[in-house]
Amino acid sequence: MQDVDVVIIGAGAAGLAAAKTLRAAGKSFRLIEARDRIGGRAWTTDTDFGVPFDIGCAWLHAADRNPFYPEAQAAGWTLYHHDAGLDHLWFGTTRASDADMARLAVADEALREAIEAHADPDDRLSDLIGNCHFLRANATYAGPMDFARDADEISIADYQSAECLDPNYFTLEGFGALIHRWGADVPVTLNCPARLLRWDGPGVAVETDQGTIRAHAAIVTIPTGALAFDALRFAPELPLSHRAAIFDLPMGLLTKIPLQVTGTRFDLNPFDDLLIEGLAKHDLYFLCFPFDLDLMVGFVGGDFAWELEAAGEEAGVDYVTGKLVSIFGSDTRKHVRKGMMTNWAGDRWARGAYAAARPGKADARSTLAEPVADRIWFAGEALGGGLKQTAAGARISGETMGKAVAAHLG
Ligand SMILES: Cc1cc2nc3c(=O)[nH]c(=O)nc-3n(C[C@H](O)[C@H](O)[C@H](O)COP(=O)(O)OP(=O)(O)OC[C@H]3O[C@@H](n4cnc5c(N)ncnc54)[C@H](O)[C@@H]3O)c2cc1C
Repeated sequence: MQDVDVVIIGAGAAGLAAAKTLRAAGKSFRLIEARDRIGGRAWTTDTDFGVPFDIGCAWLHAADRNPFYPEAQAAGWTLYHHDAGLDHLWFGTTRASDADMARLAVADEALREAIEAHADPDDRLSDLIGNCHFLRANATYAGPMDFARDADEISIADYQSAECLDPNYFTLEGFGALIHRWGADVPVTLNCPARLLRWDGPGVAVETDQGTIRAHAAIVTIPTGALAFDALRFAPELPLSHRAAIFDLPMGLLTKIPLQVTGTRFDLNPFDDLLIEGLAKHDLYFLCFPFDLDLMVGFVGGDFAWELEAAGEEAGVDYVTGKLVSIFGSDTRKHVRKGMMTNWAGDRWARGAYAAARPGKADARSTLAEPVADRIWFAGEALGGGLKQTAAGARISGETMGKAVAAHLG
């Protein structure tokens, strides 16, 4: 007496990919989504600046392996090759000299080698960085701005198993808009949070605000952060292995604070990477004037991002504006028209940006990838393999789990 073969929970990149895979395999499914839109953490909007802006994912990472890259080309998206680097650096209010930049390049190589050579999976990334500020400046990309957690909360083993994300492409029309376009042909029930997943009878029964759906199997793509906040409950409870894995894959936070800056370019070029290094990991990165738009997109990550989002948008915009003033002078303020701040911490269906394993817990990813009682499969960016944390990884994970479920159902 099942309604469909598979119920899929969450219509982000992973859920949409699972649905497309099941459809291709001839399986029936119902895809339900708590929000009033598809895409999840892939979301482009033009309401703030009158031009497309990605609130969530923006870079098409690992374009040579990223299934969204050919989609972007086919859709005629405007693509710009942009691998994160460091064009301009300030240590606080002191501009780094050419000699500093040279030392930084050496430190970058040293850090990369130390990570590659490191064997003890229990160690924290911070153990390799210490107090050298050249290493710290580099490690801001390895840590808060990339893994979205501070280096002392990053498992070296988890970090090591992430693939290099070059080549990276940025789009004018928006990565979120691309994923929306790609997913538009999938039937989705919106505004339909799943509340309880029962697996005490045959198959599964998912209780939602729009009734109960019965299926042979479920694919759950809810972010680990939202699962840890009981965005979905399970009856009976999940096995301890899976519950522990969810808590061992907490969300990191990456926060964008874009400023609309008009009437000046500060002698910067479009797509320049600018970093203002602070103490206590209060680092602030700017992607400068992408596509020559009047935007300087500030980013903070890790613990500082949680602090700034807690302080609120006004405080965030004020802080970032103040930092620009501190390096470019007080005239700067009159060029800043407006700003906004993303708030993934307060987003109840995400509770953060993306997952990173706790030090010593890198195995949590493979544990969570194991099906529960051949009825519940998890998918999403946390299970994205070498492309973990990325939209491409989420899609690949959805496809992988979709195939596994289809094969299981026969
Ligand atoms: C600020 C930021 C910047 C990023 N930058 C990049 C980048 O540049 N490049 C990149 O590749 N990736 C980036 N990412 C990561 C990328 O956005 C994610 O990895 C990817 O979008 C996750 O897809 P997903 O399907 O796993 O999860 P999600 O997109 O979160 O989809 C899960 C869905 O489940 C829904 N849901 C939750 N609870 C329930 C429930 N109880 N019932 C029903 N539905 C529910 C959610 O609403 C959501 O739509 C970024 C993320 C953030 C936040």
